[in-house]
Amino acid sequence: MKVAVFSTKSYDQFFLNEANQSQHELVFFEPHLNEKTALLSQGCEAVCVFVNDDLQASVLEILAEQQIQAIALRCAGFNNVDLEAAQRLAIQVARVPAYSPYAVAEHTVALILGLNRKIYRSFSRVREGNFALEGLLGFDLHGQTAGIIGTGKIGQIVAKILNGFGCQLLAYDVVPNETCQQLGCEYVGLDELFQRSDIITLHCPLTPETHHLINSQAFEQMKDGVMLINTSRGALIDASAAVKALKTGKIGYLGLDVYEEEGDLFFEDLSGKVIQDDVFARLLTFPNVVITGHQAFFTENALKNIADTTIDNLTSMAQGKSCPNLVTLKHTRTP
Ligand code: NAD
Repeated sequence: MKVAVFSTKSYDQFFLNEANQSQHELVFFEPHLNEKTALLSQGCEAVCVFVNDDLQASVLEILAEQQIQAIALRCAGFNNVDLEAAQRLAIQVARVPAYSPYAVAEHTVALILGLNRKIYRSFSRVREGNFALEGLLGFDLHGQTAGIIGTGKIGQIVAKILNGFGCQLLAYDVVPNETCQQLGCEYVGLDELFQRSDIITLHCPLTPETHHLINSQAFEQMKDGVMLINTSRGALIDASAAVKALKTGKIGYLGLDVYEEEGDLFFEDLSGKVIQDDVFARLLTFPNVVITGHQAFFTENALKNIADTTIDNLTSMAQGKSCPNLVTLKHTRTP
């Protein structure tokens, strides 16, 4: 298949070319896919996209006019695709359901440890010759109560790691996970998880039900000084409500790898530009907030797995074989 590959960086090209071995004709484009760039797919039969590409109905309609038959997502989440429109336009959608849950789980724990022990502050201080410890006080993770929202592939590994640290584990999921239950994870309602957790970490998908799951009402229920971590999808948290909760001290630590409006920011070097997003800019001013730019997945193992599965998905869709990674409307329904 001739494939228009959007949002590509040098590392995407490297791993995709390695996996492809000339099976498909890959045409790489740096811009995101959106209404303005969709025509770049002219002459191709498939598009290959990432988390911040826009696959709403109007974009899919342009793709269908270009005879695009398949969309290969280089990610697990598919919240950026209008699946109803894809079905109506007979465009197949495939994703990479798992590439390295360890990558994301380990980054989650890196945020927890980095925030708690203020590694980011110590790093700058020590380089400036400031060896004072005021403001660097942390707490033992051992004995803390960690609430995990979404105990699928990633949440389950976070549970295992935090169990290793000696945390008490609470969990909330629409389908409890047996491995987590065997670890001693206590499944509770969302309200109870908010009320009892010292650390809350999000690992559920972004769906209409989970949009702004963490909002001002949720913050009201949480312990003062709670640590909140989001490596899942930005819109799980109402970022303006988070700013308010940081100002009152309700949130004691905030670790984000994702942000609701990250499409205009992440994956680009904007160091010479003025950030126009005032909520994001405000978040950056707090001493107890660490933000990484959607890098939780970014390990060699994950990039290789993403590329291998993406090429396999394209091959199955091209050959009309059953593709185990197709995403259909049934995936959007909460069981
Ligand atoms: P998964 O499908 O294995 O697990 C998701 C879990 O969430 C499931 O157990 C599911 O039952 C649960 N869930 C669904 N709806 C829910 C709801 N309304 N409330 C509570 N739980 C609910 O997915 P995963 O591989 O563990 O990935 C989790 C999320 O992590 C993905 O949706 C994706 O958005 C995100 N992610 C982020 C990165 C990154 O680089 N930051 C990388 C990969 C995945």
